[in-house]
Amino acid sequence: MEGHSYIPFNLPDIGDEEIDEVVATLRSGWLTTGQRAARFEAAFQSYTGCRQALALSSGTAALHLALEALDIGPGDEVITTPITFCATVSSIIHCGATPVLADIGEDGNIDPVCIEKRISPRTRAIIPVHLGGLPCDMAAIWDIAKRYNLSVIEDAAHAIGTLWRGCHIGSLESLSAAVAYSFYATKTITTAEGGMVTTNSDSLAARMRCLSLHGMSKDAWNRYSDKGNWYYEVLEAGYKYNISDVHAALGIHQLRKIEQFVAVRTAYAQIYKECFADMPEFEMPPGGNNARNAWHLFILRLNLDKLSITRGQFIEELRRRNIGTSVHFIPIPLHPFFAPWMGDPRNHCPRALAFYERLVSLPLYPSMTVDQLQAVVKAVKAVVRSNRAMSVSMAGAAL
Ligand SMILES: *Cc1c(COP(=O)(O)O)cnc(C)c1O
Repeated sequence: MEGHSYIPFNLPDIGDEEIDEVVATLRSGWLTTGQRAARFEAAFQSYTGCRQALALSSGTAALHLALEALDIGPGDEVITTPITFCATVSSIIHCGATPVLADIGEDGNIDPVCIEKRISPRTRAIIPVHLGGLPCDMAAIWDIAKRYNLSVIEDAAHAIGTLWRGCHIGSLESLSAAVAYSFYATKTITTAEGGMVTTNSDSLAARMRCLSLHGMSKDAWNRYSDKGNWYYEVLEAGYKYNISDVHAALGIHQLRKIEQFVAVRTAYAQIYKECFADMPEFEMPPGGNNARNAWHLFILRLNLDKLSITRGQFIEELRRRNIGTSVHFIPIPLHPFFAPWMGDPRNHCPRALAFYERLVSLPLYPSMTVDQLQAVVKAVKAVVRSNRAMSVSMAGAAL
């Protein structure tokens, strides 16, 4: 329909450096967790300024491992946001704990006021999610955690590159127990599949490292390399969450590009904001006070009373114009699996449900060209032009 080919919602940005490192790994004879995983961890630790970083097979593994290592289990409650990917909540359920949802605030992130209202004697932890790279109000969340003696595990799947009060999420200034990152294919940096958990506690790091590999006292490098020794002991029923060196090879080079990626994302987000600034049909995503938003997502909010179509139709109109979009996220209470937990009136989240109806995530990634960005702007404006709600005065004039 339009003069451009399909612009996908997301594409990874993989260069020759990543490809060469993967090939070198394949030729090296060492494929599983080894020196490349260690290099990726060291680079991540130095970039974010955290004390300990542990590379894993996914962001979901990072969340689950942090909860398990904090001994959160049956009878415990964990508070999180309804506007997140299912994995945040499933990891709580995998531990045998009960998820409790606190509604969102104006910025789309979990509302600290609502968190406090959800606390019960069983509450053990809070999992805030930095939606789209916009940091949560960590000062308020840490204050609550301190007063009620709760652990904070940050879901930073969107927040590599995010700065809060000048520091990276998970830096030494952080009062959180652990921070979980994802390197899934669509994330700001990717290892195809992968994740990282960081912590400033050496004992928690040691527990997570052991749990990430069958609860064994030694990993493969410390058994099979020339530095190794065959003997190990199983200390608890662990998981199989380690990252392979093939995946870590990608991460080493993706991480080197993070500042450049965030710079392009920020510039593109600014262009979107400027192009849509005078359109009453939209509300722009917040930039973030005291913060550097990493702009993992550009979440446009529709003012539905100004449009004659729904969000679903808006997305379909963009698809017809060769633009891929997404929705972040379908609120947790709307998924059938979580229904049994939603009977608890504490889980009612009217703001999240209303927010959801308005959301469209537009393409935003460094491998997109400015021409493609302008094509998205043009298509979005065209959809609005042909689908404006008739205003009351116009309707009156038409009579
Ligand atoms: C992607 C994502 C996850 C899960 O990460 P995986 O690496 O896919 O397991 C968790 N939380 C949020 C908010 C995410 O976007």
